[in-house]
Amino acid sequence: MSPQHEAPASPGDRKDLRADCSSCFGLCCVALPFARSADFAADKPAGRPCSHLRNDFRCGIHERLRDEGYPGCTVFDCFGAGQKVSQVTFGGTDWRQAPETARGMFEAFPVMRQLQELLWYITEALALPPARPVHKELRRALARIDGLTRGSAESLVELDVNALRGEINVLLLRAGELARAHVPGRRKNHRGADLVGARLSGADLRGASLRGALLVAADLKGADLRDADLIGADLRDADLSGADLTGALFLTQAQVNAARGDATTVLPPALDRPAHW
Ligand code: SF4
Repeated sequence: MSPQHEAPASPGDRKDLRADCSSCFGLCCVALPFARSADFAADKPAGRPCSHLRNDFRCGIHERLRDEGYPGCTVFDCFGAGQKVSQVTFGGTDWRQAPETARGMFEAFPVMRQLQELLWYITEALALPPARPVHKELRRALARIDGLTRGSAESLVELDVNALRGEINVLLLRAGELARAHVPGRRKNHRGADLVGARLSGADLRGASLRGALLVAADLKGADLRDADLIGADLRDADLSGADLTGALFLTQAQVNAARGDATTVLPPALDRPAHW
C-alpha cells in the first residue's frame, strides 16, 4: 500500500466493488450490447444472452476468450454491479427462473455499474490522507450512493446518473489535487490531453494529472506514474511494461486490463495483474 493510501472505509469496501461472477446471473453477458469488432467476435443486442453463456451463468469459453476473439470480455469490470443487481435488487431470483424480471434487471445493471464505479472512486479518495479536508463530504456522498444502490430496479432506472457523476467529480477532483500537492517536484498537467501513441517511455509523470487523457497505444514503458491521477484516462493498448503505478489515483481494474504490461509493472495493491500480461 502506498504511503498516500490507508485502509478504505466502509460501506464501499473494495471487495464489494469488484466483480464476483459466482454471485451474478451473467448480466454483463446478457444486458449489454456488443458489436462485432477486434474486441468481440460476434454482434449481440442488449438483452440477448451471448451464445457462449452457459445455463449456470458461466462463460463457456472463459479460458480461451482472447484466442476466440473476445478480448473485450477480459477487459470489462462491473465494479460488483452484477452481483448487487442479482442478489440485492432482485433478491437472488434469476431472469431464467422469472423471465418477467429480465427487462428490469437488464436495465438496472448499467445504472448500477455507474453507481458502483462512483463508490470505487469515493472509496479511493477516502483512503488518501491528504484528502482529509473533503473526507466528510465524501463520506456523505458514499452513504448516499450506497443507499441508491439498494433501491428498487425502477428507482435505479429513473436516476439522473450524469448529474450525480458531475456532482461527485467535483469532490474527486479536489481529493486528487490535495493528494498530488504532497508529491515533491513539478507536477505535469496532461488533463484531457490527446496522447494517443505518445512516446512516453521512461517519462517522469509522478503526481501528474492525466485525468481523462487519451493514452491509447501510448508507450509508457518504465514511466514513473506514482501518485498520478488517472481517473477516466483511456489506457487501451498503452504499454505499461516496467511502469511504476504505486499510489496511482483512481486507477481501475478495467483500465489496467485494457493496457499492456509485464511482470515488472508495479500496480496499486487493490488491483490484480491481468492474466494476459
Ligand atoms: S464470451 Fe463469455 S464472457 Fe464474453 S459475453 Fe459471452 S459468455 Fe460472457
